[in-house]
Amino acid sequence: MARVGGDEFVIILPLCGSAEEVLAFASRILEKVREPITLAGQVIRPSICIGVPFESAEQLLTDGADRLIANADLALLVAKGRGSGEVEIFNNQMARSATERLSLLSAMGESIENNDFVLHFQPIVDVVDPARLRGFEGLLRWENQGRPIGPDVFIPLAERSGVIGRLTSIVITQGIRQLSIWRSEGVIGDDVTISLNVSGHDLRSPNLIAQIAGALSTFNVPAESVHLELTESSSIDVGSVLETLNALRSLGVGLSIDDFGTGYASLSYLRDLPATIVKIDQSFTRNIADVRDRSLIAASIAMGHQLGMEVIAEGVETTDQLARLVELGCDMAQGYLISRPMAAAAVPIWIAEHTTMHDLVNA
Ligand code: C2E
Ligand code: CA
Ligand code: CA
Repeated sequence: MARVGGDEFVIILPLCGSAEEVLAFASRILEKVREPITLAGQVIRPSICIGVPFESAEQLLTDGADRLIANADLALLVAKGRGSGEVEIFNNQMARSATERLSLLSAMGESIENNDFVLHFQPIVDVVDPARLRGFEGLLRWENQGRPIGPDVFIPLAERSGVIGRLTSIVITQGIRQLSIWRSEGVIGDDVTISLNVSGHDLRSPNLIAQIAGALSTFNVPAESVHLELTESSSIDVGSVLETLNALRSLGVGLSIDDFGTGYASLSYLRDLPATIVKIDQSFTRNIADVRDRSLIAASIAMGHQLGMEVIAEGVETTDQLARLVELGCDMAQGYLISRPMAAAAVPIWIAEHTTMHDLVNA
C-alpha cells in the first residue's frame, strides 16, 4: 500500500484476478476503516471511497500501469460522486464520458474566445395585458461546430469546471449592452427590464458586483433595470452569499427566485433573501388545471405578495393557463404562448407585432 496524494492511497493486490475478489477485499477495507477511532479524545468515524481499475482479468494484461492508475482515478471519482463509503469498478463508459466531458470543455474554452456564446431573449409580459412588455430573460445559447448544445448540458459542466464565471461575464455584458441598444433605438421603453441567470458559484465570486456595476456604467443602464435570477438549489447556502446579495440590492439590482417550489427553499430562506421577484416553476404552470397545483400557485402568489414581491409564472404555453393566472392574481407571464426565446435581431420585429395583442386569451 502506498500514499500517492494528500488523502489518496493505492493498494496493490497480488494474485488477484477477478473483479469479484477485489470487491470482497474492498468491502472488508470499508468495514475496517469505518470502525470508530479516538483521536485526541474525539471519536472519529472515518469513511473512504474505493475505485477499482479493471473489470476483467484481460484488462490487467493489456492496460499498462499508467492506464490502470488513470482508470482507478476515474472509478474513484464516480464513487465519490455517489457519496462516502462507496466502491466503483471502472468501466469503458466512464472513460468515454470523461473523454466527452474533456473535449466539450476544451470546445467551450475555444467558443468563449471566439464569442460563440450568444444570449437569446424571451419576453416577460403583464398577465392582465399581455401586450404590455415588462422585460426579457436572457438565455444563453451555444453552437459547437454547427451543433446546438443546450444550457442544461453546458451550464452544469461549466459550474463543475470553474468556467461558469467566464460565461456569466459574457451574459452580463451581452445582456446589459443589448438592453441599452434597444433603449437608445427606441425599440423598448425605459421600464422594460433584463433578467439574467446567475449560478450559486457566481455569488461566491468577489468579481460579480464590480462586473455588474462596470457594465451598468459602461452602457449607461440604471441598476433597477437589471434583475438577477437565482435558482433555489444553487444558492442554497444563503448565509454565505447574503452579503453579496445585499450589496447587489443596495446597488439597485433586482433579485428573482427562479424555479420557485422545486428546490430546497425553506420559509426562512425566503425571509432572509432580499428578493424582489418570485418565478413560479413551469412544472406548476403546466399542471395549473389540477386543483392541487393551482392551490400551490395561489399560495405562492399570496406569499410573494405578502413579502412585497412580484410574481412571474414561467412556462405558459396555453391561453387556458394564462386565463387561470389572471384569476389567481399573478403579475407576469413568460412562456411559449407569448414567445420562444429569440435572437436579439428578431426582437424588434416581435415587438412590432406583439404590442397589438391586448387580449391573448380571447384572440
Ligand atoms: P430557466 O432559468 O428556468 O430558464 C427557462 C427555461 O425554460 C429556458 O430553457 C426556456 O427556453 C424554457 N422555456 C421558456 N418558456 C417555456 C415554455 O413555455 N415551455 C417550456 N417547455 N419551456 C419553456 P433553456 O434556455 O434551455 O435554459 C435551461 C436552463 O439553463 C435555464 O432554466 C437556466 O437554469 C440555465 N441557463 C440558461 N441560460 C443561462 C445563463 O446565462 N446562465 C446560467 N447560470 N444559467 C443559464
Ligand atoms: Ca431563469
Ligand atoms: Ca426558471
